[in-house]
Amino acid sequence: MSNWRILVTDGLAPQGLATLRQQAEVVEAAGLEELPDVDGLIIRSRTLVTGEDLRRAQPRLRVVGRAGVGVDNIDVAAARQVGVIVVNAPLASTDAVAEHTLALMLALARHLPQADASLRRGEWRKSEFLGTELGGKTLGLIGLGRIGAAVAERARALGMAVVAYDPLLSPEEIAVRGARPLGLQALLAEADYLSLHVPLTPETRGLLDAHALARLRPGARVVCTARGGLVDEAALLAALDTGRLAGAALDVFEEEPPRPGPLLNHPALILTPHIAAQTVEAQARAALDIVAEVLAALRGQGLRWQIA
Ligand code: NAD
Repeated sequence: MSNWRILVTDGLAPQGLATLRQQAEVVEAAGLEELPDVDGLIIRSRTLVTGEDLRRAQPRLRVVGRAGVGVDNIDVAAARQVGVIVVNAPLASTDAVAEHTLALMLALARHLPQADASLRRGEWRKSEFLGTELGGKTLGLIGLGRIGAAVAERARALGMAVVAYDPLLSPEEIAVRGARPLGLQALLAEADYLSLHVPLTPETRGLLDAHALARLRPGARVVCTARGGLVDEAALLAALDTGRLAGAALDVFEEEPPRPGPLLNHPALILTPHIAAQTVEAQARAALDIVAEVLAALRGQGLRWQIA
């Protein structure tokens, strides 16, 4: 065994921890106090790694691994400056997030949480839960990367027409991924369901603001399993209040967990606590992928998913 010490702050699926323990000393802790005394750090979405943390951890810390996709909780620019490698596990959660997105769309179409709660109250209100079908509807996807494309494939299987806006892909590539390419304004105007699958960056923050929501057709539904901050929550609530939107479902929030308030009480909103990637299968894949990648970084081997 090497002398490497690896700090794990957000937990890791047992398969990954077991592999890691064969190669390194594993320190499990909730905070970053040990950071200057470890060679690697493995996090999920909870831990925030600032530039100050990365500077304080020099000269020992060499790699930060994110067991999942989004690296918006790591100061990647600062990591580059101090020479800390940043890696992620981008493939592990694609299917889980795509399935959760479809689950939320189906739950919106059939009022599943509301119907369940009503029945448990002792009611039998069949006519109030008149649903709609996904088949024959148009799904607008903003972002057609791994997860967007996986959602497109599943939505087509349900008989939906899929349109997509992704300015970093060519129209041909969008067509290959099973969607009809559209500009953002046209997509907003056509979608019955709108789902976001872009990273949170300075450019995408507030992408779905009041202006964009006003472009949606009356009765449209919005789903976001990507990142809090992409959807302007106050504007979304306003669009739901006026009845312009038929419903929305969020797995991610501007502030996590969200504070008690109108968001948590709105009857036309379905909310899940950032669980889109929380499947047994995805967590096991993410743990094994990130452990392999972090160990490869420490050994100076080639990396599959280097961000910095
Ligand atoms: P990806 O990199 O494969 O795809 C992202 C796509 O967004 C790319 O095709 C890119 O071209 C496109 N894009 C970038 N900027 C855009 C813009 N301004 N407008 C439209 N498209 C734009 O990433 P992925 O694996 O598909 O993941 C997408 C996002 O899902 C991640 O960034 C992450 O934030 C989120 N995610 C959430 C969970 C969860 O638990 N809820 C889990 C995994 C991933």
